[in-house]
Amino acid sequence: MQAYQLLINGKLVDGRTTRGIVNPATEEVFAQCPQADEALLDQAVASARNAFPGWSGRPLSERAGMLQRLADALEARRDDIALVLTQEQGKPLEDAKGEITGTAGYIRYIATLDLAPKVLKENASERIVQHRAPLGVVGAITPWNMPLILLAIKLAPGLLAGNTMIVKPAPTTPLTTLLVGELCAAIFPPGVVNTIADDNELGAVMTRHPDIAKIAFTGSTETGRKVMASAADTLKRLTLELGGNDAALVLDDNDPDAVAGHLLRGATLNCGQVCLAIKRAYVPEALYDAVCDALAQRAGAMVIGDGQDPSTQMGPIQNRAQYEKVKGYLDIAKRDGHVIAGGELPEGPGYFVPPTIVRDIDDSSLLVSEEQFGPILPVLVYRDVEDALARINDSHWGLGGTVWGRDLERAYALAQRFESGTVWVNRHLNLQAEIPFSGAKQSGIGTEYGQEGLEEFTQRKVINVQLEA
Ligand code: NAD
Repeated sequence: MQAYQLLINGKLVDGRTTRGIVNPATEEVFAQCPQADEALLDQAVASARNAFPGWSGRPLSERAGMLQRLADALEARRDDIALVLTQEQGKPLEDAKGEITGTAGYIRYIATLDLAPKVLKENASERIVQHRAPLGVVGAITPWNMPLILLAIKLAPGLLAGNTMIVKPAPTTPLTTLLVGELCAAIFPPGVVNTIADDNELGAVMTRHPDIAKIAFTGSTETGRKVMASAADTLKRLTLELGGNDAALVLDDNDPDAVAGHLLRGATLNCGQVCLAIKRAYVPEALYDAVCDALAQRAGAMVIGDGQDPSTQMGPIQNRAQYEKVKGYLDIAKRDGHVIAGGELPEGPGYFVPPTIVRDIDDSSLLVSEEQFGPILPVLVYRDVEDALARINDSHWGLGGTVWGRDLERAYALAQRFESGTVWVNRHLNLQAEIPFSGAKQSGIGTEYGQEGLEEFTQRKVINVQLEA
């Protein structure tokens, strides 16, 4: 078995104990992960604190150069890290490679940004300049669905801005983050990047730690609330990227089969375990049967299996707890609607759930009102598009959404009325490094991606000079 280590103060170290990491396609332990405890976390925070003056004092261009080297190192090891990503997360190997390429690309983009001072006012008597200062030690806490890209969108801007970092992955997908730690050990000065791994107990310790200035968190809304409460005592800066229950609004000028293809992909990518996945679809009465039939036919043809098998289109659910949750949603689907594809679990091993299409279901079902985070798509009928929009917006979530229609003006006007942070028209999951991303309502606070995402890792500092007495 490959050995994994934590990165603390520039050294790759063993944890206090180890914990077996399960491959969700086989349910077998395939690696041992070192576990930190509170004392090791404290060591990591102390080393990040010590490293902060030196790191933040370097020119931004030097920090950018090291980030470029990290992107090079990731690309050089793309294939072996992708294999570990597939083994720990379950996604098809090609998707794992794509996540690593996207991660490296994002890091490269961040390395091109600047935080130049901005002159706010200048005249004969005064000069007022806004600077962007780093915050100090930043904690990055990530979930298990996209361990690498969700790490990069915290690590790269955090480091470029001059912060030092403590990184904590989810307990079920820690290994690829520890591999990134290995790469960082060879590039960054000691203490600048620290990686720890836990059994779900150290996130809470990080959020109340007096020497951590900011928490950049991606995870569920439920945990996000705890992070916010726990960070209150130290008034930490927070970025919270949380859950979603994104709706797809299908307009009546669509080709049913083509739109069904888009909906199915949006609902089953990464086995539905994407914050921005299509989690409910609203289809006009005139197209309802045709879209449902096309969805069922396409879902039935999808190949599910071990992500290491090149023919696999969709892997398993990532962990047992989520698998049990998704099984509960299958029961709800059968109770509240008509299952027209999938619905039955294959014989084990592996946490496999087939792509499942559910029709004749209404908004009151928990499958529609909650975040299923699995490959089960409820398809709802509407008569009046205004009514559909009201039903879509009647949610405490507001992450993303999609509108599908040939009349772009009409689609755009409806997109503007979605109460969410991102709305795509006739495409989905088009995330670009330079385009800011944030959740509305209880889907999050703050922004990732783009210059705005970088600035979230800084404190605005205004220097106001009197030039003449
Ligand atoms: P989770 O909230 O259970 O865990 C996320 C991380 O928080 C893990 O590292 C976990 O160990 C840690 N954690 C657990 N308890 C904590 C606490 N009290 N304080 C601080 N940290 C704690 O989320 P998950 O189940 O791993 O991920 C799935 C969720 O993430 C879904 O809701 C999904 O929509 C959301 N997500 C959101 C985005 C986004 O950008 N908005 C992206 C991906 C996933």
